[in-house]
Amino acid sequence: MFTLIDLPYPKDALEPVISARTLEFHHGKHLQGYVDNLNKLLPGSGLEELPLEEIVKKAQGALFNNAGQILNHNWYFGQFAPKPSMAAPGGRLLEQIEKQWGDLEAFKAEFEQKGVSLFGSGWVWLQADADGALSIAQYAGADNPVAHGFQPVLTFDVWEHAYYLDYQNRRAAHLAALWPIVDWEKLTKAFVK
Ligand code: MN
Repeated sequence: MFTLIDLPYPKDALEPVISARTLEFHHGKHLQGYVDNLNKLLPGSGLEELPLEEIVKKAQGALFNNAGQILNHNWYFGQFAPKPSMAAPGGRLLEQIEKQWGDLEAFKAEFEQKGVSLFGSGWVWLQADADGALSIAQYAGADNPVAHGFQPVLTFDVWEHAYYLDYQNRRAAHLAALWPIVDWEKLTKAFVK
């Protein structure tokens, strides 16, 4: 049985970037729905004893969609902080970003552009390969780096349910507003390449 993750901050702590009302729906309804669906689908699938990442690697159809969305949202909600201790990545993560993009601003611009240009519902991810090389990838629906053998680093959710209550159709404005709540210390520590 999978359970809904607790948010690592109060529901109103990310305002005004993400409202408490958006989090009530996004975490309390949408993510809870994926958890409930996965728990209904798993019995008899042969995958019920596996950890979430292994289910994502092996499942197809509705099982994949619900497991993938749980993995995506667990990472997404876990990477934010109301008052991050670092305003930018550090360590190896910053080195690698600067090596590949020149500077952090160029990386952010491409990340936002790939989020804005993703057609329909999906996710823009920063991901790393086995050698630590980074790439920005657009994934449709519930798809994600883990399903393709990459390590997750950072993700912005571009499903409309992530921003419609606060930003209506202004996806670009929403994505641009997210940077000040990214917990770069946590993501820098998680990047162990
Ligand atoms: Mn979402």
